[in-house]
Amino acid sequence: MPNSGSESGLLSQTILVVGGGIAQISAALEAAECGCDVVLVENGPTLGGRVSQLSRYFPKLCHPACGLEINYRRRKANPRVRVYTMAGVADVSGSRGNFTVTIKTTPRHVNARCTACGDCAAAAETEIPNPFNYGLDKIKAAYLPREHAFPQRYVIAPEVIGTEEADRIRAACKYDAVDLDEREATFELAIGAIIWATGWQPYDASRITAYSYDRSPDIITNVEMERLAHHGGPTIGKIARPSNGEDAKRVAMIQCAGSRDTNHLAYCSAICCLASLKHAAYVREQYADSIVDIYYIDIRAHDKLEAFYNRLRADPQVNFIKSKPGAIVVGDDGRPHVCGEDTVTNEIYERGYDLVVLATGMQPSAAEGYTPPVALARDDYGFIVPDGVDDDGMFSAGVAGGPFDVSSSVQSATAAALRAIQVVRGSISTVATE
Ligand SMILES: Cc1cc2nc3c(=O)[nH]c(=O)nc-3n(C[C@H](O)[C@H](O)[C@H](O)COP(=O)(O)OP(=O)(O)OC[C@H]3O[C@@H](n4cnc5c(N)ncnc54)[C@H](O)[C@@H]3O)c2cc1C
Ligand code: SF4
Ligand code: SF4
Repeated sequence: MPNSGSESGLLSQTILVVGGGIAQISAALEAAECGCDVVLVENGPTLGGRVSQLSRYFPKLCHPACGLEINYRRRKANPRVRVYTMAGVADVSGSRGNFTVTIKTTPRHVNARCTACGDCAAAAETEIPNPFNYGLDKIKAAYLPREHAFPQRYVIAPEVIGTEEADRIRAACKYDAVDLDEREATFELAIGAIIWATGWQPYDASRITAYSYDRSPDIITNVEMERLAHHGGPTIGKIARPSNGEDAKRVAMIQCAGSRDTNHLAYCSAICCLASLKHAAYVREQYADSIVDIYYIDIRAHDKLEAFYNRLRADPQVNFIKSKPGAIVVGDDGRPHVCGEDTVTNEIYERGYDLVVLATGMQPSAAEGYTPPVALARDDYGFIVPDGVDDDGMFSAGVAGGPFDVSSSVQSATAAALRAIQVVRGSISTVATE
């Protein structure tokens, strides 16, 4: 049994952290380095969350692997953190200090003997949309989830289970690491406090029908732009038109795509202006003769990043156009055309581009597609927030609790870890919060 459990009347000393992104890893390490036992549960095949899918990240435009790698090293050095990937929380009962949590694992079909040699991928023929690249390209049905994946262990996709191809994949493995008979499993843990760090998902751009996301491969979202610019992405880092592979030198960024709009996401996601500035920098670095047009309502670059904004603003090949486009259509030339009215000059425009990037917002995972198996206080948008009255032993960290950048996510993770430590050490009881 994975956990010895709590005895009647005693607080469980173990903290559960749900979700494997930067917030979760940070919260887990902070608690473990203070001497607490931590269980970390991630429903995907690898840790890292959406930060690992970024090409580079502001403020310094460094590679996300740097920050994540440091955390992986801290985790390796700390035996108090137990990690379960391809696992989620199926049930929570009990109360603060004494929860019983049921963890459910889904089959990876590859066990811990895997050396990541790749022979199984060579034996596979079926290709599936690559989830790590948001389906922009395909991968073999036996795959490593990403470069620098933690754990470094392959996955056999459910699409081939039960086929002769799966038998060939198993036969190709010299280490007896492929387990085609693995099934879903559940087990219980005794837990003192829970940190929900379930993060976010990109808002579904196909719901903004006027922007024709489904009608042209050259209309992409901001998260897809991160993969397009990444050396591990579908074009090995070349910012190209998905329709024909040509250089994308005339690029439009559409701010607030579905955000600050009561028909979609009513709130401001806080980071997508900065993300688009970053994307403009990617394009300008790659092509000296490129032109980027940023269509915006207002640019919200918070104080630390004002200098980054001013740098882009000073570039004569980056244009800031104050306008919320009314429509994006596919023109007679096959390119996406952005249509609307410039609210400064009153000009009615229709401009063709090689590539249009929709700056879609961050929607909490707990708003759609995932319902936590326990009542949690949530705001009108689905973010998990303190309920203002009781400390129930459950806290949120990272974008599960609000639209944060990485540094704010890590700060909220540290705060959540501190409060969870206080619960398992018995140093706070029910408290009122404002
Ligand atoms: C286009 C774009 C560019 C960005 N660029 C930057 C940047 O340059 N710099 C910056 O500071 N910020 C940037 N951000 C913001 C940054 O991505 C977030 O701050 C960061 O991802 C927050 O991390 P997180 O751990 O809270 O959530 P996530 O990264 O979403 O991680 C959550 C994890 O939880 C897992 N999970 C979800 N539900 C469950 C469940 N039920 N059970 C178990 N596991 C679950 C997920 O699989 C995932 O691994 C950008 C955002 C966007 C949209
Ligand atoms: S499952 Fe086997 S063949 Fe595939 S990468 Fe792992 S060790 Fe290699
Ligand atoms: S950060 Fe910018 S693009 Fe994103 S919702 Fe706010 S104002 Fe719109």
